[in-house]
This record gives sequence, structure tokens and C-alpha cells, in this order.
Amino acid sequence: MDVLAIVVPCYNEEEMLPITFPELRRKLNELIEKGKISPDSFALYVNDGSKDNTWDLIEKESKEHKDVRGLKLAGNVGHQFALTAGLVFAKDICDISISIDADLQDDIDVFEEMVDKYHEGCDIVYGVRNKRKTDTFFKRFTAQTFYRVMNFCGAKTIYNHADFRLMSKRALEQYSQYGEENLFIRGIVPLIGYKTECVYYDRKVRVAGESKYPLKKMIALAIDGITSFSVKPIRFIVYLGIFSVILSFIAFIYAIVPYFLKLTEPGWTSLIVSIWFLGGVQLISIGLIGEYIGKIYMEVKRRPRYNIEKYTEE
Ligand code: UDP
Ligand code: MG
Repeated sequence: MDVLAIVVPCYNEEEMLPITFPELRRKLNELIEKGKISPDSFALYVNDGSKDNTWDLIEKESKEHKDVRGLKLAGNVGHQFALTAGLVFAKDICDISISIDADLQDDIDVFEEMVDKYHEGCDIVYGVRNKRKTDTFFKRFTAQTFYRVMNFCGAKTIYNHADFRLMSKRALEQYSQYGEENLFIRGIVPLIGYKTECVYYDRKVRVAGESKYPLKKMIALAIDGITSFSVKPIRFIVYLGIFSVILSFIAFIYAIVPYFLKLTEPGWTSLIVSIWFLGGVQLISIGLIGEYIGKIYMEVKRRPRYNIEKYTEE
């Protein structure tokens, strides 16, 4: 039977873990009793360099229960890397993984549906939020803007899906081939391919502890997400340059008429026209150099170029 690993990144979660441990255990046992997963299934808690008691709690719990395992990172590397550490580590010791935040804001009751979809042949199952009514207006608005910009820039992300998802062993293996530094997991997973589905749930409010994603980290994540999947922002500079050159022709007409009517100071016409024209030429040049840098950027990622799903022998 398939061993399920629930991967939970934890950063200063000492207030939350005493609630999370029994909740995840209850869910695991429920799925084991229904015969959907192996009795060897477990939860893997990844301590992301917490400053509080988080690791002591995880260590103690893992000694007392065989369904709890802990992974301690040497320092704080951030949610995306901590989760990756857990997933890459889990790929050798499980058949299915589900990643979820320690605060259990995502609904653990959809685990079963996720596992069912896995048994139906899906390799990746996304947890997708129905509504965002428990989030503040500000968080909702920023998230929405972020998805729009992301998709405009060409990264295929799933709307209203965070990092709550099921991945099969072979999806994890393929995921671990992506060795990029600027990590945005949500953008990479859709690149893996394979059969995928979504399950829907309502997101809850955090019951203990506080959000570890202040605005600063949210903006950093958004910028990482956009810039690591697209060189479109660079192309934007080229467009801006072209626009400026076009404007310089309009400025030319605007400046030349009063010149002949002798309504201007000497020198004004040539100055105005050169500012717009040269500015535009400079922007185009910078953009062009940027295009090459963008190409280098994409090359150095050394992403896997394809992923073979099946091979039929006669
Ligand atoms: N987290 C982490 N490292 C960090 C920040 C956060 O591992 O540097 C974990 C955190 O413990 C939680 C998850 O990432 O399990 C999501 O964080 P949080 O719930 O605070 O984010 P929010 O739900 O507010 O976006
Ligand atoms: Mg949270």
C-alpha cells in the first residue's frame, strides 16, 4: 500500500504545533483505517531554523509517536526552501506526499479526496481555495493582483492555490530536478506535467501564533515569482523605449511649430526633441542588453527540458 508523507514546514510554530500534531495524527489514522494509505504513513515536520521551542517539540513528539518524523534545517531558509527540503527528503521514503502549512489553515478534510484522485491516476492534486472571505481585504487584493501579473508574464499558476498539494513519488522526483536558486514552487509544479486535478476547500483563519508572511516577505515572494519565470519585465523596457522615440516625433512637431513662429527661446526646440529621442534610444539599448541577460538567466537555470511520462514496449 502507498505510504503517505505529510510535509509541514515550521518556523516559530510552538503555539501551533500542540494543535497540529493530534489533528494530523487523527487524519492519518482515519485514512489508514479506511485502507487508503499504508499504516507506515507519517507526518514530516521540517524545522526552518526556528528561534523558539519548535524543534524540541518536534523531537519529543517523534520519540513518542512513530507517525511523526522531524527534519531540522541548520538555519532559516524561508518557506519555499524549507518545503523543498522536506519534499526532496520525503521522495525516497514515501509514495505520496501532501504539503501543508503548520497552521492548518488549509482544510485537512480534503486529504481523502486528494488521495482518491491519486488512486484514480493523478500525480499532482492542487488544493484550491473556494473563497477568500477569511483573509483581510488587503491580502485578498494583493494576492489577486499578484496572480494577474504572474499570468500576464506567462507563468502558469493555479488561481487561489498556495502550497497545499499532493504530489506522487515520480512528481517529486521530477520536481527535485529543478535546481533553481530563485524558487517559486507554485510556478514550477505545473511545468512537471502529468495528470493533475484540483480539490476545493474553504480556508480557515490561523488559530494560534501569527502569520510568518509579513508584507515584506509577500512582496519578495511575488517579485521572485514573476522574475524567475519571465523576462517580460525586461521586454517592457524595450517597449517603453519605442514609445519614447515615437513621442519624440510628436515632440518634434510640437516644438518645431512655435520655433518657426518665433515664439520660443533659442535652443529649446533642439533640447526637447533630443531629450525624447535620445531617451528612447537609450531605453531600447538597455532593453536589448537586458534581453540577452534574460536569455543567460534562463539558460543558467538548467531546468529539465522535458519529462517522459510513458513508454510503450511492443
Ligand atoms: N514558514 C517557514 N519559514 C519561514 C516562514 C514561514 O517554514 O521563514 C512556514 C510557517 O511555519 C508555516 C508556513 O510556512 O507553516 C506558512 O506561513 P504562514 O502561515 O505564517 O503564512 P500565511 O498563511 O500567513 O501566508
Ligand atoms: Mg498561514
